[in-house]
Amino acid sequence: MTRMKPLLERNEQFARTYTPVALGRPAAQMLVVTCLDHRVDPAIVLGLQLGDAPVIRNAGGRITQAVIDDIAFLAFLAEQLFGRQGPADTLFEVAVVHHTQCGTGFLADPDFRRQAAEATGVPEATLEASAVADPHLTVKTDVERLLASPLLSPKVSVSGHVYDIATGHVTTTMEARYP
Ligand SMILES: [Zn+2]
Repeated sequence: MTRMKPLLERNEQFARTYTPVALGRPAAQMLVVTCLDHRVDPAIVLGLQLGDAPVIRNAGGRITQAVIDDIAFLAFLAEQLFGRQGPADTLFEVAVVHHTQCGTGFLADPDFRRQAAEATGVPEATLEASAVADPHLTVKTDVERLLASPLLSPKVSVSGHVYDIATGHVTTTMEARYP
């Protein structure tokens, strides 16, 4: 038994009218970093279609070292594959999108964090680093962190945004900047 059954039925529907997308420059020339929360799917919230933009998701949508590594590799790949298709000095923009009511906000509470660390074996510092209590603050921290990374390509710009779960609106808190 798998709970995938209804989802596989939806996939059957999807495949009926599906047209494959060739590997090319992401149509939106964007890469989105956001939370894994099931209320925050950028395909729905930002209307992304297949082939529009790669998306990296983790708890909180935080800029971790793993995310920085992925972005560095994707910039290299984009340059190798599509570098000659667009302006020579730009590859894509990274949009960091944090959101209100984030489940990682509980991790800002030291007691909750200690319990979570004991129960899961995940180091307390790692849990603390993923906490989004105020998305307007954390998104700024993460945009600055990515811009400051020596691994970030000078052809990649970074912007910061907050998605409000209550209203459905995404607002820009930091305009796109190059390192
Ligand atoms: Zn979240």
